Amino acid sequence: MNPDSNIKYLKGVGEKRAAMLAKLGISTLWDLLTFFPRVYEDWSKITPIKYAPIGENVCIRAIAGMPCREHKIRKGMTLYKTEVTDGDSLLDITFFNNKYAAAKIEQGKEYLFFGKITGKGYYRQMTSPEFEEVSDSGRMRPIYPQTAGLNSKAIEKLIKTAFESCDKIEDPIPKDIRNAYCLLNLEGALRSIHFPESEDMLSEARRRLIFEELFLLELGMMRLKTKNRRSTAYKIRKDYTEEFFSLLPFELTGAQKRAIAESTADMMQDIPMNRLLQGDVGSGKTAVSAALIYNCTKNGCQSALMAPTEVLAMQHYKTLTKMFENTDIEISLLTGSTPAAEKRKIKVALKDGGIDLIVGTHALIQKDVEFRNLALAVTDEQHRFGVNQRGSLASKGVNPHTLVMSATPIPRTLALIIYGDLDLSILDEMPKGRQKIETFLVNSEIRERAYGYIKKHLCEGMQGYIVCPMVDENEEMEELAAATSLFKNLSDGFFKGFRLGLLHGKMKPAEKKAVMESFASGETQLLVSTTVIEVGIDVPNAVIMVIENAERFGLSQLHQLRGRIGRGSHKSSCIMISDAQNEETTHRLQTLASTTDGFKIADEDLKLRGPGDFFGSRQHGLPEMKIADMMTDGEAIRETHAAAAHLLQKNPALEGEEFDLLRKAVNRLFARGISMN
Ligand code: ADP
Ligand code: MG
Repeated sequence: MNPDSNIKYLKGVGEKRAAMLAKLGISTLWDLLTFFPRVYEDWSKITPIKYAPIGENVCIRAIAGMPCREHKIRKGMTLYKTEVTDGDSLLDITFFNNKYAAAKIEQGKEYLFFGKITGKGYYRQMTSPEFEEVSDSGRMRPIYPQTAGLNSKAIEKLIKTAFESCDKIEDPIPKDIRNAYCLLNLEGALRSIHFPESEDMLSEARRRLIFEELFLLELGMMRLKTKNRRSTAYKIRKDYTEEFFSLLPFELTGAQKRAIAESTADMMQDIPMNRLLQGDVGSGKTAVSAALIYNCTKNGCQSALMAPTEVLAMQHYKTLTKMFENTDIEISLLTGSTPAAEKRKIKVALKDGGIDLIVGTHALIQKDVEFRNLALAVTDEQHRFGVNQRGSLASKGVNPHTLVMSATPIPRTLALIIYGDLDLSILDEMPKGRQKIETFLVNSEIRERAYGYIKKHLCEGMQGYIVCPMVDENEEMEELAAATSLFKNLSDGFFKGFRLGLLHGKMKPAEKKAVMESFASGETQLLVSTTVIEVGIDVPNAVIMVIENAERFGLSQLHQLRGRIGRGSHKSSCIMISDAQNEETTHRLQTLASTTDGFKIADEDLKLRGPGDFFGSRQHGLPEMKIADMMTDGEAIRETHAAAAHLLQKNPALEGEEFDLLRKAVNRLFARGISMN
């Protein structure tokens, strides 16, 4: 059988089992072969009964002293008990209602028993152990994630059959590379990961499979990166940072100054800057990018700033226009909703250099947008752009300097994969005078009180938000309905007489703009909104936020939302309303209530959701890993990173027959959107 064959054709499967396997994400023979065990039971290490630690899983090798005896405890409950010995001590074995297992144990025969030890003092017993007759040697047994109707043993059996029926498994990693990094071949590694002969073999198999997974990922990601990084870009000749400082109404934090100095130094080199600016919400990333933009403009070059949403692009445009109002910097805004005639004008001006700074959404990376001399490409909230859009802003210039900004603290190892050889600046200091945001988790019975609390703030001249969640991505309309009706109810009811605003994703940009402006100016007191406000909105006078159905949000998303308050010198509060009982959900919400440290939250988020889901897989576009763990396989990430870089340097297109399978494998891993060719 070909590895791509449908699993239902495997001996022992059929339609019904195929459906069960589908629940485990297995639809082909290959899926089954790469369905890796969760843990192993080590039947090769025999523990003497005497030393078997209570509460732990162990393997005991012992002879049955007698057949199992039946004890009827009550109706429907029969115990089967026997006593076994390893020649030194005794162990009681008990089965519940399992006549079949009990009957298999014969007096005088030797077995391996695997299970959890219970007992007290010197007394030892095992309840419902797994057992088998002693053969040549015990081994490591794979334990698979199971599903209803299909237990680990059944899966193990199917995998054995799969190996017997499968054609030769070809190795995508060429022999030379395998030798250079001392890797098992693929088939050997697969066999060993399922049926390891020893712990050493198992760890070699794991190493090989993790290597492959990360190696393919690195190759794919590296191919995506802007080419020809080496040639000289627009070099900044004179540093105008001090002059920039005088434009600001505030003193920059030490972290901001450091980030500006690091970036400016980069931009004065012969090779383009390639830097990630990481800083929690509210840490002031915009001002850092503004400094670089100022430097570029003063040196006679153009800059571009791209944001993931129109709301955010508009806000950046406003902020920067204000900041640069007493300079001669020409700024324009280009988004999907810029009127056609104006778009045309902007495009002409960009091409002939009439515009120094363009702010916009992905409208900036459309084909017909051309620059005269784009020297700096800044991308805000970079992780919200698809992998394919990454780098396309930079491709509008001749190796421009690039700065990507993100509020999501990305673990270093992950950043290495996603961004490659990127330098990192971190804003680990908040602007002075910020107050800690207090966060509460309450159930819906407290809602009235929460609203009352908002009212109190509004009466004191402060502003606030009420955020409604997205039901799911396809239910944008419902989300909208929820926000709209809440807005109506509150306007006519609880908040009658107050000035409320409504903001949602289906509004026309002009409407959105009007709502935002009204809120920013203080005219609107309370903004009822969907998640549109997640990124960007910056209104320091807004000090209270109520999040409805908080359980529907991810941890990082909640953190981002909460970052919309606590931006001024007033004390801010965030109230999450949720009736969720689920343990994981409560844990998530409590984590948020207990800390405002973005790094801690990101770590927790990564633990809870796994890296595949870290940015929302749709957004970062990284394929899901089957065996590699981005949190713990840092060493392997570094090794494969170097290996991939080395290979691509010698053979950028992976030409040649020996790389056919490798090329295909990379394409397969990135099945959608990304291609090696
Ligand atoms: P983010 O890093 O989340 O993008 P912003 O750049 O939007 O943060 O900045 C958040 C707010 O803090 C803005 O109102 C900005 O004007 C203000 N700000 C930035 N830096 C400072 C500073 N050094 N001192 C005081 N306020 C600052
Ligand atoms: Mg920002």
